[in-house]
Amino acid sequence: MKYVRYVSKDFKPFNPIELTNLTREIVCKICNGFECRKYTDFYVVWVYQGISTGYTVGCNLRCVFCWSDFSRDFPEKFGEFYSPYEVVQELLKHAKANKVDKVRLSGGEPTICQEHLLQVIEEIEHIPDIKIFLLETNGILFGWDESYAKKIAQFEKVIVRVSIKAAFPEAFTRKTGALPEFYELPFKAIKHLLKHGVRTYVAAMTDPRLMKLEERRELFRRISEIEPSLVQTLEEENVDPYETTLTRLEKAGIELF
Ligand code: SF4
Repeated sequence: MKYVRYVSKDFKPFNPIELTNLTREIVCKICNGFECRKYTDFYVVWVYQGISTGYTVGCNLRCVFCWSDFSRDFPEKFGEFYSPYEVVQELLKHAKANKVDKVRLSGGEPTICQEHLLQVIEEIEHIPDIKIFLLETNGILFGWDESYAKKIAQFEKVIVRVSIKAAFPEAFTRKTGALPEFYELPFKAIKHLLKHGVRTYVAAMTDPRLMKLEERRELFRRISEIEPSLVQTLEEENVDPYETTLTRLEKAGIELF
């Protein structure tokens, strides 16, 4: 499979598990016996009352509304490799300097290098100054592999935010570039995480310019079918005109602004 960069007007939908594997070859590598991962930066962002954030390189979807930097599209060109220990030191350094007690991994898709992620969380578990580890994910890998979701359940500080892109298969393909048969995976991820007792909440791109009322209703129905309380805490997202977002929308031939 060719490495997909963007959704274009005449794109061929891809298998997100294959894209995961190709991305893994670029952004994960063994260094000194540990799985290292590429990151572009670490700093505190003033959401959630302040959270020290590591920006991972590489993703297994190609959302047309994505605002991540261009390391999503060209992971081989951006970022540096960090060991799990180095990541924790960076997160902690910024958390301490800004007096915040939460950390998160964001940017690309943090679940792509599994061993790396599990080791980062494991170390965070032992740091008393950090109370919460927020894991932001598109849910593809937790939906694909229940045992991965189960491994997350062993950690007490983790809260997982699963981001849903679409509620219908064809809309999933149009918005993420992935084959329609994979649209269930984020919903399965929520089920797997809740089944194993992981604290989980849901975010969704419900911008009316990209999601019609019928799809929004279906989204709410699907989420409430899994767990009614998730609807009350649902975080609805809108598309913002970042440079990266505008480029991706233009490549896909979608005009929103
Ligand atoms: S929005 Fe999230 S899941 Fe979609 S391509 Fe960007 S980083 Fe990946």
